[in-house]
Amino acid sequence: MNENINIDYDGAKILITVNGKVNEDTIFPTIKFTPKSSVLFDLNGLTLLNSCGIRGWISWLNTFSKSVSAVTFKNCNRIFIEQVNLIEGLVPAGGIIESYYIPYYCEKCDLVESELVESKNSADRTIFKNKKCQKCQGPMELDVMEEKYLKFLKKYSKK
Ligand SMILES: [Zn+2]
Repeated sequence: MNENINIDYDGAKILITVNGKVNEDTIFPTIKFTPKSSVLFDLNGLTLLNSCGIRGWISWLNTFSKSVSAVTFKNCNRIFIEQVNLIEGLVPAGGIIESYYIPYYCEKCDLVESELVESKNSADRTIFKNKKCQKCQGPMELDVMEEKYLKFLKKYSKK
């Protein structure tokens, strides 16, 4: 019944793929940790995260073994990032957000597009200024408040 949270074990590496909605119906699976486990979340397919889902998510993370060597998140979309910026505990202490989507908007075409960014490349903010619209080739603007949206980087990127 856990079709939206899928766990794959690759030796000590545990890959958790999240698809669809995380809400009151989500069943958070029990993970079998070993003393050397590390966890990688792939959130590419997340489509909704509501307050019930957030509560469940945080208590699920609290069940993770304290011996886990690293908890990393990749392909984090706007749905997740906006909540991470607001709510403590969606990413565990010491957790790393490795890559995330940043949304762009073309005023002329009314087009929204998201681009995947590696957190390690985010120190240079000029990378967010050169996005061109696929339709009209005009400049696209960030569809979020840059400082507000990138707040998570301070806390959850590799130092
Ligand atoms: Zn355009």
